[in-house]
Amino acid sequence: MASAFGHALVAITAGKSFFREPTFKFVFWGCVCSVFPDLDVIMFNFVPYEHFFGHRGFFHSLVFCLILAVIIDFFAFTKERNSGRIMRIIYLFLCGASHGLLDMLTSGGLGIAILSPFDDNRYFFPWRPIKVSPIGIAHFFSQKGIRVLKSEFVWIALPCVACYLISVFLRKRSS
Ligand SMILES: [Zn+2]
Repeated sequence: MASAFGHALVAITAGKSFFREPTFKFVFWGCVCSVFPDLDVIMFNFVPYEHFFGHRGFFHSLVFCLILAVIIDFFAFTKERNSGRIMRIIYLFLCGASHGLLDMLTSGGLGIAILSPFDDNRYFFPWRPIKVSPIGIAHFFSQKGIRVLKSEFVWIALPCVACYLISVFLRKRSS
């Protein structure tokens, strides 16, 4: 996994860059979708890593992210149901999908079952510059955790800042 910080930053950037004045609630649930797949680490207690429901398995797939987006839209946006629903589901889905895609850029662990349940092979991108994040908070606050944050600063934070600044520039130019 990339760290929860890295995943959430992508969701915040997408919300702030591609939507005009997104609400806190909107971006918050985007962040939830972006970090949610890593809750599958609890599956280490029940099934092997490479299992369909193991870490980086079905719960990291695009299909699961779509299901999660629809469920969150249904339960968390009851008042806004008929307002901007399709765009909201697309945003929530993309936040979840960004999780698996970022993990495919990480340097360790098993690959990601991004196409599950249609294809249960685990995939990485050919280029993997992001240092894989240690599992567990105690391990995260260590030398390894600092190395992870450094690599995420370069490969996640800087591109996010660039994306946001470009969106601000384009918005100002069009208004
Ligand atoms: Zn992950």
